[in-house]
Amino acid sequence: MHTALVTGASRGIGAAIALELAKEGWAVAVNYRSSRDAADEVVKKITDEKGVAEAFEADVSDPEAVKRLFSDVSERLGFVEVLVNNAGISHIGLLQDMTDGEISRLIGVDLAGTVYCSREAVKAMIPRKKGSIINIASMWGEVGASCEAVYSACKAGVIGFTKALAKELGPSGIRVNCVSPGLIRTDMNKSLDSETLKELEEETPLLRIGAPEDVAKAAAFLTREEASFITGQVLPVNGGFIV
Ligand code: NAP
Repeated sequence: MHTALVTGASRGIGAAIALELAKEGWAVAVNYRSSRDAADEVVKKITDEKGVAEAFEADVSDPEAVKRLFSDVSERLGFVEVLVNNAGISHIGLLQDMTDGEISRLIGVDLAGTVYCSREAVKAMIPRKKGSIINIASMWGEVGASCEAVYSACKAGVIGFTKALAKELGPSGIRVNCVSPGLIRTDMNKSLDSETLKELEEETPLLRIGAPEDVAKAAAFLTREEASFITGQVLPVNGGFIV
């Protein structure tokens, strides 16, 4: 069984990646933190199509929970050959108004979560000399966003981590890449009003907001044999919003 673990796969981009990888024949570990019903729904969609999937609860910002997650997944679905670090949260607001808790939560989930999950994954990948890690960054990690300074820093950190880990793990036959989405229609952006969304659409050269499936297809490409010489790269999926 070829197994892929997608963090934060109960909703949005992660759910779309889980469905796409299942279509490509992966057994999918659907990680969630609190949306149990939504994760079960993703699993059901996959198993209804004769795919293999199971839901696994874990907060990726908790290193002990991440260890348990990997041990549960490998027991139920075997070796995790593909890890997609997708779980993430955002925070919009001025830096001076952020509390200590908000800052550490953001760094804990968006940056440390990626590091913890990757650390567990590579322990099993290195002896097998195979594996692929795909980190979901953000265009704000590439260019920075006003009122999202900490989020941008986390995503820039994810990009740096990707490049460094690709160098460290290349000789072990493990590839590490990022997909860097632009604005994608998910719950993360539900606070944006329709006027703002329309303006952002008009500013985007391809004149639309992205769909979770746009990101999922890019992530799936990076898992494939045809991407076997691609590592340490950032694949932007942003409609041309930043170039
Ligand atoms: P979303 O719709 O808000 O979904 C977030 C997912 O992450 C949910 O499945 C959630 O699970 C999970 N999650 C949150 N905190 C977690 C934790 N501590 N441990 C495990 N899972 C956790 O967000 P999205 O828009 O799909 O974003 C997915 C990724 O893409 C994020 O890394 C985000 O930064 C990135 N991204 C998004 C956009 C965009 O425009 N939407 C753009 C660039 C990058 P529960 O429901 O169980 O809490």
